Amino acid sequence: MKHRVVVVGAGFAGLQLVQDLAGADCAITLIDQRNHHLFQPLLYQVATTLLATSEIAWPIRRVLRGRPEVVTLLARVTGVDRDAGQVVLDNGDRIPFDTLVLATGARHAYFGHDEWEADAPGLKTLEDATTIRRHLLLAFERAELAHDPAERDANLTFAIIGGGPTGVELAGIVADLAHRVLPREFRRIDTRTARIMLIEAGPRVLPVFPQGLSDYAAAALQRRGVQVLTGQPVTGISARDVTIGESPVPCRTVIWAAGVQASPAAEWLGAPADRAGRVMVDAHLTLPGDPRILVLGDTAHVEADGKPVPGLAPAAKQQGRYAAALIKARLAGKPFPKPFRYVHQGNLATIGRNAAVIDLGRIRMTGWLAWWIWGIAHVYFLIGVRSRLAVAISWLWSFLSRQNPARLITQKDTARRR
Ligand SMILES: Cc1cc2nc3c(=O)[nH]c(=O)nc-3n(C[C@H](O)[C@H](O)[C@H](O)COP(=O)(O)OP(=O)(O)OC[C@H]3O[C@@H](n4cnc5c(N)ncnc54)[C@H](O)[C@@H]3O)c2cc1C
Repeated sequence: MKHRVVVVGAGFAGLQLVQDLAGADCAITLIDQRNHHLFQPLLYQVATTLLATSEIAWPIRRVLRGRPEVVTLLARVTGVDRDAGQVVLDNGDRIPFDTLVLATGARHAYFGHDEWEADAPGLKTLEDATTIRRHLLLAFERAELAHDPAERDANLTFAIIGGGPTGVELAGIVADLAHRVLPREFRRIDTRTARIMLIEAGPRVLPVFPQGLSDYAAAALQRRGVQVLTGQPVTGISARDVTIGESPVPCRTVIWAAGVQASPAAEWLGAPADRAGRVMVDAHLTLPGDPRILVLGDTAHVEADGKPVPGLAPAAKQQGRYAAALIKARLAGKPFPKPFRYVHQGNLATIGRNAAVIDLGRIRMTGWLAWWIWGIAHVYFLIGVRSRLAVAISWLWSFLSRQNPARLITQKDTARRR
């Protein structure tokens, strides 16, 4: 019988691993709770009507259609039976493994306020992105309908919580939507009066970037009409307002971009985890004391130069590549490769049309050139020629026409009545 490799999660780490295992003498089962691989770095562009869902996600079966040795299962994993060497699925099925790779990513964390989720959706999945898109577009529609000026203003107030790259990108692009894209289309309201707040509890936005770049980002956001509120913790969120410190602000659209928590892999394994729930793995990305099990990407805690490897797509892909090399060595009866070494490729974030920041260590960039480099890098990392072309054309079109093409409100509004 062939060695059975079970991979849970077809994100950046899991998919890279499966791709790098091509040609290895093993039977691979890839399990994901969704039928698609998602390019999360562009999710905010779906949420803000710049891209359509099919431009940033690809059916896993299609990606792996040329790999007959890979079985793909659409199922949610609910546990791992380490003694029996089996993965437990939500339908009760058990999938046996010789090697298990858990690459199940992360989800939102509301810092002990899970009740905020209903009124402040986070951005992690395609459903989240279309939910946020619906909230944003409906807010403008409700403002156009409102007779009461206070109600109109509350609908034209947008709060984005969290000043990391996702919050900054969202704030910049919501401002572009309100100030440049929509004004010509609404008659009763002036969308340029929209109030867009980026609220960050810490002292500055983009805290992982050098001070100069975070100052540039804050100034660029303010020029776009975003109110950057740093050092101001959010203390309450309801369907009608957001409370900043002691002050409630009437606001109908709140987006959460503040915290992440690893998937519950540590609970499945009964293994030690860090504060963000990431499984503590050794330098070979295996579970200490159980080398059959590897944990990768956002769900693993591994250190480089004394610091945890960041939750970034390139880090997840590098771990996927390393894990494939380790499994191949194991299959060939060779010793494990040298410990995993993370190579940081830099930090990038956009602030909206024609503005971005890039930190490549010695090289730092801002402005339109950084924005073009950011765009080219993202197009390059998409899967397949078709999606690269589709995204490049969508961007070029919205750049030239100042239009956002994906502005359809398609789902029923399941948000609480406001
Ligand atoms: C909005 C946003 C913007 C980002 N921007 C950037 C950026 O600009 N640059 C950058 O480098 N990184 C960015 N990131 C981070 C980057 O996307 C992650 O670091 C990366 O996706 C981690 O890869 P992963 O393979 O560990 O997990 P993921 O890519 O999250 O994949 C996890 C997979 O596991 C599946 N899964 C989870 N639980 C289960 C279960 N119980 N059963 C079955 N399947 C399961 C999921 O469906 C998913 O397909 C961003 C993330 C977000 C959310």
